[in-house]
Amino acid sequence: MIEIYCRNCGKKLSNDNEVCPNCGSKKRNIIVTLKDKIELHDQIKGKVKRQGFKKPIREFKVGDDLHHKSGKWYHKEMYIDREKDQYKEIVKDKTTGNIIHKCEEPLSKHKGHGSAKYKKIKSNE
Ligand SMILES: [Zn+2]
Repeated sequence: MIEIYCRNCGKKLSNDNEVCPNCGSKKRNIIVTLKDKIELHDQIKGKVKRQGFKKPIREFKVGDDLHHKSGKWYHKEMYIDREKDQYKEIVKDKTTGNIIHKCEEPLSKHKGHGSAKYKKIKSNE
């Protein structure tokens, strides 16, 4: 997507505007916007609670996660099933679709890999 703005007055111009219709300037700023830069970064979270159980028996989190090292947005899915003692985590590169990190193990053996979010869930209880 290409957007053209007058460098003098800032008016948005169309491609066939030779000069700015607002101020007559020929100077233009061309802004190229990459499609995948305009994204909504959403996350959905959920918990399933059951009477008699202190902790939620199921938790999930699906959405975008900013990878701080690379500054890239990754797609991250996390599932916890306490009933089945399962922990599952998938991290994908949003642009290529490649799986960057995948972790599937018993929840009781999962140590969080330094994940602050997981620790937060634990410390809340
Ligand atoms: Zn102008």
